[in-house]
Amino acid sequence: MATRNGGKKRSKFIFVVGGVMSGVGKGITVSSIGKLLQSRGLRVTALKIDPYINVDAGTMNPTEHGEVFVLADGYETDQDMGNYERFMGLRLDRGNYMTTGLVYKSVIDRERNLEYGGQCVQVVPHIPREVISRIKAASKKADADVTIVEIGGTVGEYENILFLEAIRMMKIEHPEDVLTAIVSYVPTPSKVGEMKTKPTQHAVRTLNGTGVQPDIIIARADRPLDEKRKEKVATFCNVRREDVVSAPDIDSIYEVPINFEMDKLSDLIIKKLGLRGKARKITDWEKLVTRAKNAKKPVRIAVVGKYFNSGDFVLSDVYISVLEAIKHASYANGLKPEIVWLDSEQYEKNPAKVSELEKFDGVLIPGGFGSRGIEGKISAIRFCRESRIPYFGLCYGMQLLVIEYARNVLDLRGANTAEIDPKSDHLVIDIMPEQKEKLRKKDYGGSMRLGSYVADLMPKTIAAEAYGAKEISERHRHRYEVNPEYASRLREGGLVFSATSPDGILMEIAELPKSKHPFFLGTQFHPEFQSSLGVPHPLFLAFIKAAAKRAE
Ligand code: GLN
Repeated sequence: MATRNGGKKRSKFIFVVGGVMSGVGKGITVSSIGKLLQSRGLRVTALKIDPYINVDAGTMNPTEHGEVFVLADGYETDQDMGNYERFMGLRLDRGNYMTTGLVYKSVIDRERNLEYGGQCVQVVPHIPREVISRIKAASKKADADVTIVEIGGTVGEYENILFLEAIRMMKIEHPEDVLTAIVSYVPTPSKVGEMKTKPTQHAVRTLNGTGVQPDIIIARADRPLDEKRKEKVATFCNVRREDVVSAPDIDSIYEVPINFEMDKLSDLIIKKLGLRGKARKITDWEKLVTRAKNAKKPVRIAVVGKYFNSGDFVLSDVYISVLEAIKHASYANGLKPEIVWLDSEQYEKNPAKVSELEKFDGVLIPGGFGSRGIEGKISAIRFCRESRIPYFGLCYGMQLLVIEYARNVLDLRGANTAEIDPKSDHLVIDIMPEQKEKLRKKDYGGSMRLGSYVADLMPKTIAAEAYGAKEISERHRHRYEVNPEYASRLREGGLVFSATSPDGILMEIAELPKSKHPFFLGTQFHPEFQSSLGVPHPLFLAFIKAAAKRAE
């Protein structure tokens, strides 16, 4: 299906940049373009470039930058990588992500190794060349017909200029194989009442100033662009009218590929890049989207966390994969999820408030770090256990489940995690031995237990039944874990460790048997990273099923 050139495959590259403002959906655009090209029989891969000095996303506070998405190989990346994997069904690795920090670091390391043969190593061309060689390497590794590259940030920022320079250089080198799409925003100010294209015109001019002309303009707006606006954008931005693709606000991100096809985006790309694609066919995806749309019966899920507040605004991006995984499992059960974000700190200020959880069909506590809001989360877990409300704990949410159980069922007073109270008499959650050394050396970056590990399931447990398997592989991101010295006491006290590392030392899932509680389960790993619309995660399915039962 690929374009062939004398039998040799010719790789094509699509760059996606953002104009006017951030948050216009570049990540979903990349994911949707990929999905569409796959549906035309093309092999795709995707990369994200983040313009930060941070070498990876692992050291960034989630309220600064949203979720840290962990790849199977353990690389800590941007949440967009999660969208790519979910939409395109890809399994990406560290070669698919880079930051300014990483690029500079590798150029500097190579300079120290005398790999530039005495040259004066310069920002241009050496930095963009490093970027280009990484893009090409990822493309080659995936044997991709089309490689889609998202440049983080917005054009006009100082930070991403070198990445735009990489586009310019690649375009000179391979004029027929490189396409640039700008995702821009077209506002309709309420007092003006008319859709305004000027910000987009400015964004494209700014992009032109870097030597890059967009081939396609994806116009995000609260409504579809009318013909007049499309013509205006085309005239002032040097493209044809059919190169302006409308991307109106819609209820679900999963409808974006379908919407793009209304403006024939995949045909447009295929033609511009001289690709040979199969006839359009995204029926499977359309079926999933219809199933999601038809889900009407509500299931009410509370997510109790802490990384929500940014000034006066609530950020749910921090838990984006969790949110999507809840949606996937709900849709598959024919349910419409109503997700409410609750700040755990409020249960510390006002303990009686925890009874509000009664209203929900299920409660989920996602991953986290540090001590803020922790006692509130523990109270929430206790309430769920005692009131038989389905509870699902992810990573920290599992560790806190164990702490709650140790304190309130085994009566181990002051039981805690070494992360919060290293002097506790009962460190039921302790630092992993190899992690101790890392913290001593202040080796914080990319040093947790990260990425995919296999675990063995114990038969006849909720987990084993949900997975229908004996062995699983899931993604991790933690430094602490259930203290093996307490495992047998917890077991004797009724807690079931239904998954452990193959050597039996690390507890990967804790649960209560069905006879005691409809669903009280926590995972040391992050199941949310491996859920998609087409293949919802088995544990999320089981959790939502239990919640649906309570709803009845
Ligand atoms: N803070 C805990 C740990 O490091 C949990 C991490 C998480 O929830 N991702 O083990």
